[in-house]
Amino acid sequence: MVEPQTTPPPLTPPLKGDGELPHAKSSSPLRVRGGGTRKTSSSEFLHPSLTRIWSWLAEIPDPEIPVISLIDLGIIRDVAWRGDTLEVTVTPTYSGCPATGIINLEIERTLVEPGIEKLELKRQLSPAWTTAWISAEGREKLTAYGIAPPQEGTAACAGALKPLTVSCPQCGSTKTERISQFGSTPCKAHYRCTECLEPFDYFKSI
Ligand SMILES: [Zn+2]
Repeated sequence: MVEPQTTPPPLTPPLKGDGELPHAKSSSPLRVRGGGTRKTSSSEFLHPSLTRIWSWLAEIPDPEIPVISLIDLGIIRDVAWRGDTLEVTVTPTYSGCPATGIINLEIERTLVEPGIEKLELKRQLSPAWTTAWISAEGREKLTAYGIAPPQEGTAACAGALKPLTVSCPQCGSTKTERISQFGSTPCKAHYRCTECLEPFDYFKSI
C-alpha cells in the first residue's frame, strides 16, 4: 500500500537572504530557567570514570546467551584512558563464534551513546579466553537460565576422553546423559536429565 504523498512541512526554516542559517551567528550561551548559564561538567561528561564505564559494559548482554553480560563472560580484559581515547581490550570467546562482530558493535554503541568520542577496541588473542573466566555470578545466571555452566578441567570439544558429570540445572541431579555434542550453538552440548527428564544445554569447558 502506498500512502498518498503529502507535502511535509519544511524541517528547517528557509535560509535568510545572505545564505546563512538563521541561528548560525547566535553565540549566546545556553540558558536554563532562572537565567543562569547551564553548567555541564564537561570533563566528567567526556571523560567518565573507569568505574562508570565498567558499569555500562556490565549492561551489555552476551549476544548468544543474553542472561549473562560481557563482564560475566570475562571477555572484557581491560578498560583504560589513553589521553582522550578510551581503550577497551576484548578477548573473543571461541574463535569460531560469529558473535564477535556483534559484541564489538554493542560495545561501541554502549560507549558512544553517553558521549565517549574516541574509542579504540583492541582485540587480544593471547592468552586465549577460557570458560574459567566466566564469573561466579555468570555461572549462577547460567544455571538459573537452564544451562549447565562449564566445569573446568574437563576436556573441551573432544569431550569423550573421560565421562563428564554434568549436573542438571533444573533439579540438580547428576544423573544426566549427553544427547548430542552440539547444542543450540557449537559452544554447547545437548544433555538430558534422566531424573527429571528435562533436556538442557551444557556450556562446554575450554
Ligand atoms: Zn533434572
